[in-house]
Amino acid sequence: MRSFYYYARYIVARIFYLSLGLKVKKQFLYINKCWNEKNNREPEIFKHTIENKKLNYCERKEISKNSPEYIKPTTKKMLIEQSEKLKERTDLYKRKTSGTTGEPTKIYLNRHELGKLLAVRDYCYRHYNIKLGYREGRVWARSNRDIGTFFKDFLLNRKTFYPTSEEALEQTTSLLKYKPQYLYGYSSLILELSKIIVTNKLEVPQIKCVICTAEPILTSQKVHLESIFSCPVVEEYGSTEFDILAFECRKGHMHQVNPWIKIEVENSTTMITDFSRTTQKIIRYLIGDHFDIAQTQCTLLGSNNIITNLEGRSTDRYAFDKNGTKFHSVELSRSIGKYQKLNDTYFTFHILQKELGKIILYLPYELQEKSTKIRNFIESEITHNTNLKIEIKIIIVQPQEVRKETKKNSYFTQCINT
Ligand SMILES: [Zn+2]
Repeated sequence: MRSFYYYARYIVARIFYLSLGLKVKKQFLYINKCWNEKNNREPEIFKHTIENKKLNYCERKEISKNSPEYIKPTTKKMLIEQSEKLKERTDLYKRKTSGTTGEPTKIYLNRHELGKLLAVRDYCYRHYNIKLGYREGRVWARSNRDIGTFFKDFLLNRKTFYPTSEEALEQTTSLLKYKPQYLYGYSSLILELSKIIVTNKLEVPQIKCVICTAEPILTSQKVHLESIFSCPVVEEYGSTEFDILAFECRKGHMHQVNPWIKIEVENSTTMITDFSRTTQKIIRYLIGDHFDIAQTQCTLLGSNNIITNLEGRSTDRYAFDKNGTKFHSVELSRSIGKYQKLNDTYFTFHILQKELGKIILYLPYELQEKSTKIRNFIESEITHNTNLKIEIKIIIVQPQEVRKETKKNSYFTQCINT
């Protein structure tokens, strides 16, 4: 009976998309075809790229910055200006950022463009035997709920839960009772949720997949979550402007998944072009996140291009010892990940550097007694891996305080005044 009800709700969601003119299935088939042409994966994109004359943009490796053919990057400010001109249009869909990353950005899409973004999502989900429109348990931060949101959530077959503060236990039990087919939400909140489940010995229903978004998560934390939810726990990387840019395959690579998007990394500046977009021209857009691109032979999902070392803002890429020698900030989160794995304790944290050689580590209060042990461990790990000396200062706070510090895609904030 339950499976029939779930199927009916899935059909309602898909009909809702169709009624809006979003051809998710059709676009999904195109995406699937693109990435399945096994020996010809990248050329498919470039063919598309070159065919798209509207944007007059193709391989421009030889073009110098002084050439008239050189295409200047689109800044966030330029995109906001484009959005301003579109705000009266009633035929467009709007996506907006919550403003956690600075100035809020609004994006306008026509139905074809939105359909493509949703189809990329559908494509990623299917890798884990779920589909867009399956019953979703959304683990989110509290926000104002109105009747419009209620109907939208109903039609899209999802319900939002907030496992924080006084309501944490009640929200967790209602989430489990809702029996979602998959979970989607902020990494730190999913970790909070798991903690409540373990502490209260709650029974977890069968879930097909847990998708962590917007915040970083360590491999050791994912392994821990997999044991609690008994299903794959995966990461997505995306933004309001492009929705999903990379999604984790079953082998753990973050594959680029949108076939209309080209990602360029030049002198550690990341630029993104969406060839499918005409409502807003998003060419060589400076997304502000920093990561490296690597190649893989893995053909499980999307492109052979995978993203690695994602570390939020460019200034957050590096930490410094007292002499100003830099090291990659992933060393810090990796060493904390190692501690978590070795000690089988999983927690949220945030790292801040204000002064050379000194690192502040925010930890939730339940780790108070272990703080000296953690400090010594990380200091020696960093010295061992980088040959540099740093001093760790631990500040114990409430878990929600750690969350407040956490920013998009980064555990680490560097604000040294130089
Ligand atoms: Zn892979």
